Amino acid sequence: MNDSALLTAIIENAIDGIITIDDKGIIESINPSGCRLFGYQQREVIGENISMLMPEPDRSQHDQYISRYQETRDPHIIGKGREVKGKKKNGSLFPFRLAVSEVQYEGRIIYNGFIHDLTREKNAEDQLIEYTNKLEQLVEDRTERLQSLVSELQKAKEEVSVSLEKEKELNQLKSRFVSMASHEFRTPLSSIQLSVSLIDKYSIEYHNPNIGKHVNKIKIAIGNLTTILNDFLSLERLETGIIEPQFGPIHLVKFAEEIAEEMQMVAKQNQNIIYQHTGINSMFNTDAGLLKNSIINLISNAIKYSGENTFIEFNTEITDEQCFITISDNGIGIPLSEQKHLFQAFFRAHNTGNIPGTGLGLNIVDRYVKLLNGEVEFESAENKGTKFILIFKL
Ligand code: ATP
Ligand code: MG
Repeated sequence: MNDSALLTAIIENAIDGIITIDDKGIIESINPSGCRLFGYQQREVIGENISMLMPEPDRSQHDQYISRYQETRDPHIIGKGREVKGKKKNGSLFPFRLAVSEVQYEGRIIYNGFIHDLTREKNAEDQLIEYTNKLEQLVEDRTERLQSLVSELQKAKEEVSVSLEKEKELNQLKSRFVSMASHEFRTPLSSIQLSVSLIDKYSIEYHNPNIGKHVNKIKIAIGNLTTILNDFLSLERLETGIIEPQFGPIHLVKFAEEIAEEMQMVAKQNQNIIYQHTGINSMFNTDAGLLKNSIINLISNAIKYSGENTFIEFNTEITDEQCFITISDNGIGIPLSEQKHLFQAFFRAHNTGNIPGTGLGLNIVDRYVKLLNGEVEFESAENKGTKFILIFKL
């Protein structure tokens, strides 16, 4: 193959389009790739002005480009290469990289253009830009949503803290009122108690059993009222943090026996409180007052919520690590669905009927036991009895 045949083969088979024009811009040759790119047959373009392959404004100005270059020799594309747009026969535009070189051939000037199609690259680039834009939009949207969520949260937080503050104030007001009222009630109650004792004393000479019966009723009512007032006061003292446990060693068995005896006196007919201790050790470090109050509360409940002719089991156990105090009865039990409220102040289960109570006992027990670093557990089911366990770490 001679040199010219080789060159022709290279040009004919080149992937890029190759077009030559003369110094007036008239197309002298175009290779098959060039034809494919612009959608023309060779014969349709040869002899035509190169501007036919360009969109506006280059199309009308190309002749001036050439003459300006020829006058000034100041190249805009020649020898540099640039990204431009081409116009296909069907009118559509496509991007390509154009490299133009100037060739002196047989005393003439020929311009040789290499056309490298950039459609795919441009599409990919456009797609990338589109993706980036979409992503940016997405990030912007998310940020906006996040910001609005944060501000909503902030608002909710503020609202909660305002209502919390209000509730705190209300609680303080309530407990201040309760404590004041309790104190104010105590004085008249004491004078009623005194007067009742005097009535009791002076009525002996009348030998009327009815007087004694009613005096007794008044005494019981005063006793109940005093208990309620005491509960109110301990609640208030718990609320204001006045109560501080004073720990000291106690002989648990003696301590429990005394309570059992005391409570046996107020038990119902034939209701037997059975006390038992397990373990060799019987010394236990606690606040005797708070613990006694808690146990009395639990045993009073056991008495109140179980019938006559029943046993109330009262057990203590000291192991190497823990102390357990258990009180169980065979009474009405606590309905499962209501157990979650058990330790809330003023809570009373629906099955208590007309058994009296304020619903403060267990709330106080729970808080006292916490002050003693212990826990309250219970097992109960309606009509199946109830078991309360106080657990303390040694
Ligand atoms: P008080 O403040 O006078 O003790 P109360 O006994 O009603 O009133 P808590 O001791 O706090 O209040 O008990 C709350 C509720 O738990 C009771 O009303 C009752 O429904 C239920 N309860 C507590 N102990 C028992 C028990 N041993 N058997 C059945 N129900 C119980
Ligand atoms: Mg009670």
